[in-house]
Amino acid sequence: MAKETFGGVKEITKAVQAGQNSKASLTCQGCLKQNPSNSKFCNECGKSLVQICGKCNHENVKDARFCNDCGSSF
Ligand SMILES: [Zn+2]
Ligand SMILES: [Zn+2]
Repeated sequence: MAKETFGGVKEITKAVQAGQNSKASLTCQGCLKQNPSNSKFCNECGKSLVQICGKCNHENVKDARFCNDCGSSF
C-alpha cells in the first residue's frame, strides 16, 4: 500500500485585493464622506449617521425605513 506524500510545501499567499472590501459603509448626508458601517457620527464633519426612532428611541442606520427594534416606519 503505497502512500503518496507531498514533498513540496506550497506557500499560499493571499493576494491583496484592493477595492474588494465588501463592508457596507455609511455615506454622510452632510459631506458625503464614506464612514464605516458601525459609525454613529461622521468622521469628517461629526454629523450624526443614525436616526433615532421616535417611538422607542432605538438607534437605526440613517437610511433605514423601519425601526430595527419596534418596526415602526420612519
Ligand atoms: Zn460628514
Ligand atoms: Zn422603534
